[in-house]
Amino acid sequence: MSDCIFCKIIKGEIPSTKVHEDDNVIGFKDLRPQAAKHYLFIHRNHTEDVSDMVAHDPDEAKDLFRAMTHFAKVDGLDKGGFRIVTNQGPHAGQTVFHTHFHLLGGEHLAHFGA
Ligand code: AMP
Ligand code: ZN
Repeated sequence: MSDCIFCKIIKGEIPSTKVHEDDNVIGFKDLRPQAAKHYLFIHRNHTEDVSDMVAHDPDEAKDLFRAMTHFAKVDGLDKGGFRIVTNQGPHAGQTVFHTHFHLLGGEHLAHFGA
């Protein structure tokens, strides 16, 4: 999508600090980190949100989870643990409509869940 900021990051038209790149996926630092370590992982193929991605090709979710867990090992995030989050739609506060997963860690995160 020509007006999608994450597609522009993929094409190198907008600067980013990339931490992972493979044939299918790129990972880069979030501009406004919400934890000591905060990365975004996106597929090179544009979809709007995780439901759109899975409906289109569930293998793309597989590509992303493989890349994130691989990177977590390379980065050392896996030692302390990490959190993976995706926001879909207004109730979740999605602001960028190119499917992305937040990978957070590097410190104790506020507990999420019951
Ligand atoms: P969400 O609110 O789940 O849609 O997440 C969008 C995320 O993208 C936010 O955490 C933003 O800080 C981040 N973000 C927006 N523009 C950029 C950019 N150019 N480079 C890196 N991260 C960005
Ligand atoms: Zn896009």
